[in-house]
Amino acid sequence: MTAYPIGTEVACDGPTADTDCPDSAAVAARFASRSARQVRADGRADGWRWRRRDRRLVDLCPNCAARPAA
Ligand SMILES: [Zn+2]
Repeated sequence: MTAYPIGTEVACDGPTADTDCPDSAAVAARFASRSARQVRADGRADGWRWRRRDRRLVDLCPNCAARPAA
């Protein structure tokens, strides 16, 4: 999970724990979305997915979500 309290940005955590997202993607901020929860809902509409990794949730952009976890 990469959610900042200021600006509410949800960034991609990359295809694996040791690999940064090649696109350095982040959910595009919506005007009406302020909380991380709202931003995640926006991202989900754009193909973002959440995945459980090492007992925590990570955010994956559409590109990374399409790759199998290494
Ligand atoms: Zn990504």
